[in-house]
Amino acid sequence: MMRVGQPTNGKGNNMRGAVMYGPGDVRVDVRERPTILKPTDAVLRVTASCVCGSDLWAYRGLEDHDWPVPMGHEYVGIVEEVGSEVRSVRPGDFVVGSFFASDNTCEICAAGYQTHCVQREAAAPGGAQSEFLRVPLADGTLVATPGMPEDDLIPSLLAASDVLGTGWFAAVAAEAGPGKTVAVVGDGAVGLLGILAAKQLGAERVIAMSRHADRQRLARDFGATDIVEERGDDGVARIRELTNGLGAHSTIEAVGTQESMMQAIRATRPSGHVGFVGVTHDVSISGLDLFFSGVHLHGGPAPVRRFLPDLIRLIWERRIDPGKVFDVTMPLDQAAAAYRAMDQRTAIKVLLRP
Ligand SMILES: [Zn+2]
Ligand SMILES: [Zn+2]
Repeated sequence: MMRVGQPTNGKGNNMRGAVMYGPGDVRVDVRERPTILKPTDAVLRVTASCVCGSDLWAYRGLEDHDWPVPMGHEYVGIVEEVGSEVRSVRPGDFVVGSFFASDNTCEICAAGYQTHCVQREAAAPGGAQSEFLRVPLADGTLVATPGMPEDDLIPSLLAASDVLGTGWFAAVAAEAGPGKTVAVVGDGAVGLLGILAAKQLGAERVIAMSRHADRQRLARDFGATDIVEERGDDGVARIRELTNGLGAHSTIEAVGTQESMMQAIRATRPSGHVGFVGVTHDVSISGLDLFFSGVHLHGGPAPVRRFLPDLIRLIWERRIDPGKVFDVTMPLDQAAAAYRAMDQRTAIKVLLRP
């Protein structure tokens, strides 16, 4: 593998892409440019990608991998080339995809669970934090925008590819809606956009759990009506206080730790719903806690593809502005700094431009 420092102009057989060599070690390498491998593939020229909260588990040494690993699974871009069987997108289209590729035709996809598609595979096997990306199952995975977007829409369209779609699914799984009080555990990009989704779905009250002033501000921008700074048992007690002692109707869990999961379950009233979308790490729920909680639990990897057409429309019509979660933009070459900023929480979410 060639190393960073060797210039490319995006032409020829090479490109630049972020690669993690181990915890805390992200480099931008010159790598081989992807090509069509199957007739259902598309190759995109990446317009923007970003660092995900879930990338940080590996960065922090909390996940094992066969290093080195090409990074990134959130992307928007322009179709460069398609395989012979691809029908729904064409070269020149601006497209949004999500992190899992799906056929969008099997029974599981038809039920709206494209992240569990019988043909599921990684949508960005070569890493989306790069100049070019091969996307498998292009017809079922990519959604074209109505035209070439204005530059200021790109962050929002990029947000749709994961964090908005994931926050939206969490809100739907938590059955956020009119008359409901929604609590949101987690003030990362997914939690913040869960707030936006809950608001859009008509929730009456949205309680954001956050102790960071900048994130609280964004939470309020996105529709939070209350902020709870306490965590754990104190946070649960505070939510009960705000809900006549009952707990929230709907709770979004957007972290994935033992503490956050239990906080979400306990903050929810019996009969209520928990939508959990933080990738869980070492979470275990005691059978008795579950048995006596009386709550509905639903979540997992968000079927972002189900929501993409609607989300793209809302963004295109400028009715939502989820791109505000990107508080920092960096050139792809500074990917290492982007990971550092997110790891140290000096940035909420970093957008990378190749
Ligand atoms: Zn992600
Ligand atoms: Zn499917």
